[in-house]
Amino acid sequence: MSERINVTKPALPSFDEYIEEIRELWDSRWLSNRGPKSIQLEEQIAAYLGVPHTCLFANGHLALEVAIQAMNLTGEVITTPYTYCSTTHAIVRNGLTPVFCDVKEDDFTIDPDLIEDLITENTSAIVATHVYGFLCDVDKIQTIADKHNLKVIYDAAHAFGVKKNGIGAGNFGDAAMFSTHATKVFHTIEGGIVTYRDPEVFPSLPYLVHFGFTTTDDIDYIGTNARMNEFEAAMGLCNLRHIDQWIAQRKVAGDRYFERLSSVDGAKLFTIPADMTWNYAYFPVVFDGRLNRDDVKAALEAENVFARKYFYPSIDQAACYCETYGDLELPVSHYAADHVLALPMSSGITVEEVDRICDVIQGL
Ligand SMILES: *Cc1c(COP(=O)(O)O)cnc(C)c1O
Repeated sequence: MSERINVTKPALPSFDEYIEEIRELWDSRWLSNRGPKSIQLEEQIAAYLGVPHTCLFANGHLALEVAIQAMNLTGEVITTPYTYCSTTHAIVRNGLTPVFCDVKEDDFTIDPDLIEDLITENTSAIVATHVYGFLCDVDKIQTIADKHNLKVIYDAAHAFGVKKNGIGAGNFGDAAMFSTHATKVFHTIEGGIVTYRDPEVFPSLPYLVHFGFTTTDDIDYIGTNARMNEFEAAMGLCNLRHIDQWIAQRKVAGDRYFERLSSVDGAKLFTIPADMTWNYAYFPVVFDGRLNRDDVKAALEAENVFARKYFYPSIDQAACYCETYGDLELPVSHYAADHVLALPMSSGITVEEVDRICDVIQGL
């Protein structure tokens, strides 16, 4: 049996580079609570993403949940059903009601042409996901938000390093959340980032991360513990030195997939928009017609290759939501959940491995 290929494989700096980065922690004993590594990483990430403000978190989910809390939203939030459950959970766990809006057929991001019909007097925000790193129609969404006085928050968990006309993904909307989980393009083992332009929209954000303390004696907000620790920040400092190289390696694999699969009947590939610098976060393929997604997945597994149904299920169909939302007509999201397979993609995947995967698909 050939060697196992997983859908993702975390990149790591060399062992020595990481050890050198964490050496000071043994002297300072400053292991968490926004130490020097966290502050340095925050500055470097702001520079890399080209955003004015960043706040680090223990993980992407808490970053999104706390960003929503910091906005003091009420009532209904228009959101996408084609996302990871974290997006919806972050809304619901803030006591808000998600209102699902179907997605576009070309890239499965929220369909701005369907948003306005869903707006009511109770709507306070739009929370949308940059699916596979493909940016939402940020201009149309902002126009609608401005017209109806809504906040916009992007789940940019997939979009680290993605740009539109040279502008970093973190600059769109009132805030964006990036996950720096081990499986993402850039990682800090576990971690998350909120980027934002206007600190006045988020006076509480930096404090909510640390129980709501504003000084050592003042607890002004009902916060949580959502801190990134110094070992994670140190991993981020190392990984940021390599990120451009790692994205370039992903592109080599992505280019090979495009070359080998673009003419396969029954496999539809995504188009990278001309104005976008993509990060090759995932390699999603829509299997339809001659090829069945679940059969392709099984055939790959028989060859020790593990692709992932992603996103699946459409969130309105998840067990914890379907009682309330199960009857909604969201045809495009349901189609995507049933037909997309994310093929293995990482900075470490070789062209030979991509060929092995494509051979299986071409042989079906
Ligand atoms: C990974 C991910 C999250 C959650 O991030 P964690 O760091 O794992 O908490 C949220 N939304 C999307 C779209 C994701 O892919």
